[in-house]
Amino acid sequence: MVRRNKGEERDVARERVARLVDLAQEALRAGRRDRADRYAQLAWRVKTRYQLRGLALDSRVCRGCFAFLQPGVTSRVRVREGRRVTTCLACGRVRRKVLSRGPASAAHGRPDEP
Ligand SMILES: [Zn+2]
Repeated sequence: MVRRNKGEERDVARERVARLVDLAQEALRAGRRDRADRYAQLAWRVKTRYQLRGLALDSRVCRGCFAFLQPGVTSRVRVREGRRVTTCLACGRVRRKVLSRGPASAAHGRPDEP
């Protein structure tokens, strides 16, 4: 019997998602929004298939139209009353995230941005 090493598969999937996000950002910089959205869709598919968590992909991919969300370019991000409100500029879908206290969310404004 062959046991699947899910931990290892997830590591590979995680890298793939990170790569796809990189590609999406590059595509966006090159003005290829269609490609960026395509990469975003692929990244989202990998994420859901492997049930990956903690990738911050929720704020990078629109749940309404699967567009790649780049704050200031294809999405608008505002932090209000402890919530991060991300609006997709393609379809207008709004996503609200309650910012929990902790080192990851200590930064003001754009917690997911480097
Ligand atoms: Zn959208």
